[in-house]
Amino acid sequence: MIRTNFLNDENAVWLKGNLHSHTTNSDGSLTVEEMIDAYKHHGYDFMAISDHDFYSDTRKYTDDKFTLIQGFELYGNATDEKDIHLHLLWEDSIEGIEPNTKVSLVTHMGERNGKTCSQFLYDMRRKGAFVQLNHPHWSFLTSPEIEDENPYHAVEIINYGTEWLENTGDGTIFWSEMLNRGVKLWGTGSDDNHNHAPIDDQYSDSFGGFTVVKARDRSPKAIMEALFTGSFYTSTGPSIYDFYLDGDEVHILCSPCERIWMMGHFRTYQRKLGRHVTEFVTKLKGTEKLIRAEVMDAAGRSAYTNPIYLD
Ligand SMILES: [Zn+2]
Ligand SMILES: [Zn+2]
Repeated sequence: MIRTNFLNDENAVWLKGNLHSHTTNSDGSLTVEEMIDAYKHHGYDFMAISDHDFYSDTRKYTDDKFTLIQGFELYGNATDEKDIHLHLLWEDSIEGIEPNTKVSLVTHMGERNGKTCSQFLYDMRRKGAFVQLNHPHWSFLTSPEIEDENPYHAVEIINYGTEWLENTGDGTIFWSEMLNRGVKLWGTGSDDNHNHAPIDDQYSDSFGGFTVVKARDRSPKAIMEALFTGSFYTSTGPSIYDFYLDGDEVHILCSPCERIWMMGHFRTYQRKLGRHVTEFVTKLKGTEKLIRAEVMDAAGRSAYTNPIYLD
């Protein structure tokens, strides 16, 4: 029996996207139109404009070549000097969130303590939003602070903007700690770009971290379905072409890399090293509760599959 998170459909398409970006509607330097233009011309297939506490309605910009996912980034819990940011993404509309307005539900959240915030997130999840915990390391968030029972579909494991700014964009340790605890979260990657430097400048925070979905088609609905079901991988460079279990044999296919690791939970990993490694097939050890893969190319850029859960 084949098991995989990637959509099993011969007509499926691979689409590259940025799920996290800021425009002049919050603290970014590009307008919505300039941002979409930049990502279109840089080979992306989709993106989300996710301004801080402001829903930038971008639905009219979706065409047959480029898709806009709707959403915003919420300042969550600032009670203990930690600056927790949450991501809300959706396909078309969400009850109670008005287009091109400060998000009023958020504005009225009062002191924004953790409890109020998580009620809001559960509410958004119930209404159909994809709920994500952003850049945990930049927020100085440790995994014990997040309960097993939580409103999140995913954690942002690559945040290029904060990596570029302070080298705090790596959420993979936080993520693996949560997975080791048995908490099921997908891992996404994005730019979180603000573009205070020109787009082609060495200080640009664009085009460094991305999510590639395997979706039924290019529609916002199909891309959201891929996010909800984990039919995607996350990368700063390498491509992943397939990742699946065939019985107790695990397979990964990727662009030329130097290192491939199969990760279970805790110490169940296996690896393959080489100059141009594009495939690794190995057997499960038998004690894994999940299996996922990380690959790294010669430039040190990495890609991450989502976990296939075995329990
Ligand atoms: Zn943020
Ligand atoms: Zn952000």
